[in-house]
Amino acid sequence: MLNWGIIGASTIAKEWMIDAVNANAKSRVIALLSQSQQRGKAFQKQFKIDRIYTELSAFLADTEIDIVYVGTTNELHKPQTLAAAASKKHVLCEKPLALSLTDAKEMVNACSNAGLVMGTNHHLRNAVTHRKLRKLVQNGAIGQPLAVRVFHAVLLPPHLRTWRIKDPGKGAGVVLDITVHDTDTLRFILNDEVESVIARTSSQGLGEHKIDDTVMGVMQFRRGTLAQFHDSFVIGHSGTGLEIHGTDGSLIATDVMTQHPIGQINFRRENHIEKIQLPQAINLYKRAVDRFNEAVRGEGQPAATAQDGLQSLAVALAVMEAAHTGTQIKVNYA
Ligand code: NDP
Repeated sequence: MLNWGIIGASTIAKEWMIDAVNANAKSRVIALLSQSQQRGKAFQKQFKIDRIYTELSAFLADTEIDIVYVGTTNELHKPQTLAAAASKKHVLCEKPLALSLTDAKEMVNACSNAGLVMGTNHHLRNAVTHRKLRKLVQNGAIGQPLAVRVFHAVLLPPHLRTWRIKDPGKGAGVVLDITVHDTDTLRFILNDEVESVIARTSSQGLGEHKIDDTVMGVMQFRRGTLAQFHDSFVIGHSGTGLEIHGTDGSLIATDVMTQHPIGQINFRRENHIEKIQLPQAINLYKRAVDRFNEAVRGEGQPAATAQDGLQSLAVALAVMEAAHTGTQIKVNYA
């Protein structure tokens, strides 16, 4: 049995991650750290968590915790991950790994130097839809991928309209929230890295003090694919999607940029449209946990590794710089 400790009584922990850990017959959540005793107790009651802590040091001194899930606001990922690594706990960290690439690298190195597994919770690559898209593209179903369009513009639910749209110190803004996920998903499907970006951000009604709640831009991949993306917190009626257009056909996936295990894919060639058969849908977060548990047992790697988190963060930072400067930015992975 692998014992997980959750850092942060957060929405993502409550809605997805605690259940995902407990759904695996060989792992369970035994502890939670919350700055608020009240929130901690509410989680303890709802999820029947054995131990609730309010101090990081006491939480990490719990020798029964094998794996720490860092699901707090973004500025806390670094100190909490470094402390977890110093206490010899494996870390599954939320995206974005940190607010700067230097900080994220320090986290990744700390885990790696301590011989610990670290992963990034990029959930989308666990979806059967994205895994199918990757297989189709890699098997040459559409020939050479030339262009991608990502539709990841949603209406931020009222209960999430807190630090994300208000607090730059916590890593607010749509780019660190959503564009990192687009990046990871496209890297995964195309098996390619982003070379440069252009982008334009905007505050269209939810972002306070000009914090971006919308971004549109283009990523240029090393092998030449151009990917257009629209990420937003203010679009209520569009649905999400991802299109990949190649020399020999197009893949058109709808409702796939979401936390839910839904969505469909059509393959289009000239006027012929074929619905792609998908395997049984599975919970994206459960697969992330299952893969992380396996990695801790020495069987393979997390679904999204720490390195994947570094790559997606580097691209998001380049997108922010491109929007800020109004210029094309070469992604700095160094
Ligand atoms: P929340 O705003 O729900 O929670 C963030 C932190 O705020 C919690 O850890 C909690 O810390 C504190 N908190 C929770 N509720 C309250 C409250 N009512 N008042 C004051 N503080 C509160 O964040 P999210 O769950 O939306 O995001 C957390 C992380 O997860 C972020 O890094 C985000 O980017 C990532 N995320 C990832 C997703 C994915 O699919 N991979 C999806 C959504 C988010 P404490 O209990 O210690 O006080």
